[in-house]
Amino acid sequence: MTTAIVVGSGPNGLAAAAVLARAGVDVTVLEAADQLGGGARSVESPVAGLLQDHCAAVHPMAPGSAFFQTLNLAELGVEWGYAPIDAAHPLDGGRASLLHTSIDETAAGLGSDGARWAGAFGSSSRNFDRLAPVIMSPMLRVPRHPLLLAKLGLVAGPPPAMVQHLFRSEEARALFMGVAAHAIQPLTLPLVTGIGSGIIVAGHSVGWPVIKGGTGRFTEAHIASLRALGVKFETGHRVSRLHELPPRDITVLDVHPHHAANILAEQQPKRARAAYRRFKNGPAAFKVDFAVEGGIPWANPKVGQAGTVHVGGTAREIIAAEREIDAGRMPERPFVLVGQQYLGDPDRARDGVVPVYAYAHVPNGYPGDATEHIISQIERFAPGFHERIVAMRSRSAAAGEAENANFVGGDILTGAKSPMQFLVGPKFGLHPYDTGVPGVYLCSAATPPGPGIHGMGGFHAATRALQRL
Ligand SMILES: Cc1cc2nc3c(=O)[nH]c(=O)nc-3n(C[C@H](O)[C@H](O)[C@H](O)COP(=O)(O)OP(=O)(O)OC[C@H]3O[C@@H](n4cnc5c(N)ncnc54)[C@H](O)[C@@H]3O)c2cc1C
Repeated sequence: MTTAIVVGSGPNGLAAAAVLARAGVDVTVLEAADQLGGGARSVESPVAGLLQDHCAAVHPMAPGSAFFQTLNLAELGVEWGYAPIDAAHPLDGGRASLLHTSIDETAAGLGSDGARWAGAFGSSSRNFDRLAPVIMSPMLRVPRHPLLLAKLGLVAGPPPAMVQHLFRSEEARALFMGVAAHAIQPLTLPLVTGIGSGIIVAGHSVGWPVIKGGTGRFTEAHIASLRALGVKFETGHRVSRLHELPPRDITVLDVHPHHAANILAEQQPKRARAAYRRFKNGPAAFKVDFAVEGGIPWANPKVGQAGTVHVGGTAREIIAAEREIDAGRMPERPFVLVGQQYLGDPDRARDGVVPVYAYAHVPNGYPGDATEHIISQIERFAPGFHERIVAMRSRSAAAGEAENANFVGGDILTGAKSPMQFLVGPKFGLHPYDTGVPGVYLCSAATPPGPGIHGMGGFHAATRALQRL
């Protein structure tokens, strides 16, 4: 019987295990942490009884993913939850722009920029079911829908700082820039718009759902289904060298390219090893889990209905803050992403106290405490927030890496999504999952299509492994 070892149990590792196990391969998953799931887990909030997402919370890229479409979510007991509004972007003076699943509703809220928003993203979101397999695959291929991709390319190719000029109002520019900032890159670079524009068109097609019961609910159910297929799991097992592993036919690494280079050592061809070692990390995230009495008192009540809130002020302010963190300096007013997941999953709240999570973009390896930066950024658009905090717990960039070696220096995207790394991953070539060592593949978020809970890195890497077997 063909055997495989998957190193790392993040969503990509689990997707690889699923593809292999369904093909009849005997799969063992080795995980360094005590808990399975990597960035797709839930944790208790700082107040007992509330539920927090440990990392990933909102999943616009999941429903359209070819891997997710192979799963019977209902049978797994996994249910999507939707906030009344997908995302909001508050501005000073109680103003806010709102992102709805419906592109028409979004456009209607953007005044004269509405038609421009619909023009920029309408065609791609209407055709998202055909576009998704293209943008969630390695890009260095002849695309299946070149015209659709070219249309998306108009808003995904040029730097966000340029694309924003499609819009006239501060509201529309900020709304766009807040989503573009998900790339955690300088917003003056080309192609970094790909992540934001991809999320916008996915959101206008399938929304920005959370998983009812927390992201960990999905991971637990998925693992149970893998166990039923015979997949074995070992936690507390950090793999440092390939030769430590028992004999097997296939190895899939859900790890950071630097760690992959160490694991493969001399067995990896020199050029591939050098490319993995050169792989650059991006800025980091500093996360705070809050328990908040009665929710955040946003100056604009509509913001209180949005599952995700982008807190960073105007597009110009966000561009400046992201430039600072990329240069290794902590801005006074960093970009902060606030998650109000309880709006799509009300059972996460208890007795009027709701769980909220927020993370600020900070420099890679930032040694400081950004808790107060986060609180004052939220307070700026929600006066009185501070008094409503019942409890909180912070996680620094270093703590992020200590928990998950893939988040080097606290970089939650497993590598800078700079133009080249976003397109091709850690090394140039038609097969981004090949490590150069026969039978060994890389599947982490460092490979295309990049970060997120969609499983596509694992899906493609395992498919490639089976083809080459
Ligand atoms: C705060 C935060 C918020 C986020 N929000 C979102 C969001 O809302 N939506 C979204 O889609 N994504 C989000 N993400 C990103 C998402 O979590 C990641 O992109 C995703 O988890 C990557 O999956 P992966 O399988 O590549 O790796 P990971 O999930 O990082 O898992 C890798 C696993 O491999 C293990 N491992 C590493 N090295 C070894 C080794 N040598 N031996 C054994 N095991 C090893 C690690 O312990 C870990 O469990 C967020 C991330 C963070 C941190």
